[in-house]
Amino acid sequence: MNINFDKNNNSLVPVIIQDERTLQILMLGYMNEEAFAKTKEEKIVTFFSRSKNRLWTKGEESGNFLTVKNIEIDCDNDSILIKVIPKNVVCHTGSFSCFGEKNSKGFLYELEEKISHRIDDKVEDSYTYSLFQRGLNKMAQKVGEEAVELIIESKDNNDDLFKNEAADLLYHFLILLKAKNISLEDIEEILLDRNK
Ligand code: AMP
Ligand code: ZN
Ligand code: ZN
Ligand code: ZN
Repeated sequence: MNINFDKNNNSLVPVIIQDERTLQILMLGYMNEEAFAKTKEEKIVTFFSRSKNRLWTKGEESGNFLTVKNIEIDCDNDSILIKVIPKNVVCHTGSFSCFGEKNSKGFLYELEEKISHRIDDKVEDSYTYSLFQRGLNKMAQKVGEEAVELIIESKDNNDDLFKNEAADLLYHFLILLKAKNISLEDIEEILLDRNK
């Protein structure tokens, strides 16, 4: 990979950081040759921070590292696109991305993230975590219950109740996926495959 670090005077090239799974743009940073070499070597993104005026491994304080999945150079070798798997949030403001709050793959993926964090961070006063602690059978049973409630409401003419049960089912379905260590994307892949 030949990057033209000398095209501009300060030898920094812009680096776009993109979520490998959702394709959301997460942040923009700069690299010099040393930062780029370190990033390739460690498979963890290290920028050259213009404000710190030194190499800056994203996540060095917060622990929110960016794991490198793919590196591409643009047409004239003066900018870099890196696809990553982000750990937790990317922006120091607590946002998922520096360019906005939302996970662009949509609300379900956001909810999946939230459920994941409730469980991984063992959030004591969270319903999600307390249900998780009651074990796989309980989580599976909840999916069954919500499905039955949805069936019952489908026979009524009350759309509000039906929609609420549909929401309950989706939410518990995501908890069960998490308990099985399976991602929403795994399911998406199967459905996409069937459509080929
Ligand atoms: P971190 O690299 O995540 O440990 O954060 C260390 C410091 O870098 C923070 O206190 C912020 O000042 C800055 N920082 C972290 N993430 C970003 C970001 N996405 N964009 C700009 N500055 C950041
Ligand atoms: Zn270019
Ligand atoms: Zn930010
Ligand atoms: Zn329900």
